[in-house]
Amino acid sequence: MGNIQFKFENKSVVVTGGAAGIGFDITKSFLHAGAEVHVWDYSETALKAADQELSSFKGKVHFSQVDVTNRGSVTAACEKLGKPFHVLINNAGITRDKSFGKMGPEDWDAVINTNLTGLFNVTKLAMEKFDPSAPKRIINISSVVGLYGNFGQTNYAAAKAGVIGMTKTLAKELGRKGFTVNAVAPGFIKTAMTMAMPDEVLKQMAGKVPVNRLGETSDIANACMYLAADEASYINGTVLSVDGGIVL
Ligand code: NDP
Repeated sequence: MGNIQFKFENKSVVVTGGAAGIGFDITKSFLHAGAEVHVWDYSETALKAADQELSSFKGKVHFSQVDVTNRGSVTAACEKLGKPFHVLINNAGITRDKSFGKMGPEDWDAVINTNLTGLFNVTKLAMEKFDPSAPKRIINISSVVGLYGNFGQTNYAAAKAGVIGMTKTLAKELGRKGFTVNAVAPGFIKTAMTMAMPDEVLKQMAGKVPVNRLGETSDIANACMYLAADEASYINGTVLSVDGGIVL
């Protein structure tokens, strides 16, 4: 779990995909730093497990089953927010990896709809729910793949590069309105999915990273907390690579 000592008391945070993997670490980190957190996730199983694990934060953490690709579902979650909020972490994402020759339109559509249009839906529909009288933060989770491409991930790389374009444009448009908008680009991060790979493969992956290890979910959560903090108010439109230097 992230443990930067920023204080988020009196702040309210929305985390999409916040019940599993990187998003769950982001959720826990903000809760421990005093924030109220709204977890919007698609997976019923992950939501239930997260609710159980976070039972000591009753009243501070709120769970909604939300599909970011479905505008009706996002609108319903926005209406449930009640009070204005301050930080939006657009984290929900999926992969449907195949070489371009084998990639079907359904693989393309699923990834673009979730990883790019999902950000449009959530950001657009939640815009009115930000606290008008406080600093506002949008943090979009991209990927190193959005910067450099990757074999078998045409759909994912296109979506994650799109997230970067969207981040920079929103940073320009919304800066005057009290927002900062930034992206975080994770490298190889240890999640349930990566940890299911054979040890040998994991070792090889780590060996390609200049700091010689895979990233922890807390590395991403820490970056999000920093960008969300009042102390980061002059950082706008940046892409923060959190990848141990893999792309160098
Ligand atoms: P996980 O699959 O572990 O968690 C993502 C969560 O988002 C899951 O609970 C998932 O539900 C949910 N989700 C999927 N689709 C939707 C949707 N339409 N609406 C709402 N929630 C949804 O992913 P990671 O933690 O690995 O990844 C988080 C983010 O970080 C993603 O944007 C990913 O692209 C990015 N990233 C991850 C890296 C890594 O190494 N793990 C590296 C670089 C970037 P369900 O399980 O039902 O799909």
